[in-house]
Amino acid sequence: MSPARLVIDPHTHSTASDGTDSPSELVAAARDAGIDILGITDHDTVAGWGEAVAAARRLGIGLIRGIEISTTFGGASIHVLGYLTDPDDAGLMGELAKARHSRATRLERMVELMAADGIPITYDEVLRQVAPGATPGRPHIADALIANGTIGHRDDAFREWLTDESPYYVAHYSPDPVRACELVRGAGGVPVLAHPFTRTRGSTVTETLIEQMYAAGLVGLEVFHRDHGPWEVERALRIADRLGLLVTGASDYHGAGKRNRLAEYTTAPEVLEAIEARASGVTPVVRP
Ligand code: AMP
Ligand code: FE
Ligand code: FE
Ligand code: ZN
Repeated sequence: MSPARLVIDPHTHSTASDGTDSPSELVAAARDAGIDILGITDHDTVAGWGEAVAAARRLGIGLIRGIEISTTFGGASIHVLGYLTDPDDAGLMGELAKARHSRATRLERMVELMAADGIPITYDEVLRQVAPGATPGRPHIADALIANGTIGHRDDAFREWLTDESPYYVAHYSPDPVRACELVRGAGGVPVLAHPFTRTRGSTVTETLIEQMYAAGLVGLEVFHRDHGPWEVERALRIADRLGLLVTGASDYHGAGKRNRLAEYTTAPEVLEAIEARASGVTPVVRP
């Protein structure tokens, strides 16, 4: 009998950004879901890495340290995963710190606009939803509205008030996707374009942009993801094949904040090995 194939879910969130499980709870939930190697990829931060590594060692599962960088291109929000980056790289970490700072100012502005329109929300309520040192984001506005009884689920807030097209939407500072690839490569890491064709965000990612990112060091496309239907998967696979990009899949789990379930999509062990081979080795995959 051949040994069981490793279950690898390389894209998830903790309370270090907009997930609802602490890093230790996330690792425990991953182990309970039968995951062998988990990727923790909080938005614009490595703040969850230390706790996640300790939990992974304690519970005997593997851990890929990553980040998910929010970038903007033509007014649209595009997410770039950075795997195994050096957490001491000044270029990348400086850019992420700038983005986190701008995210806080922008949330305060969004809350002002919403409150002025009669939506029952204060910035203090939002701050209570952000864990110390975490990256603040729109889901924390949703959490404050859940806490004060206005809505029942984050989805309600996104449907009503929080989309990129909402009159309350305020952008935050972020690099463009090509620069994000350069920063990740500069930090010895491996850039993978997250859910490129997320339907709710429109068809903003063009093949030309993916080619430019490829020229800047893009290594993979996250093809298998809840936000992709058969048409998006087919399109992404065709581009990956043409450019020789690695193909990943992941849950993008956010705890109770989204309906995504751990390991609902996964990445092949050979692909993880290829990702590791492209990293400069400063931040290795933790193996049990
Ligand atoms: P921000 O980081 O402030 O731009 O907010 C974007 C984040 O909101 C994404 O990373 C998702 O995790 C989350 N999000 C987007 N749409 C929804 C939704 N319908 N329900 C729950 N969370 C969502
Ligand atoms: Fe998120
Ligand atoms: Fe994302
Ligand atoms: Zn994500």
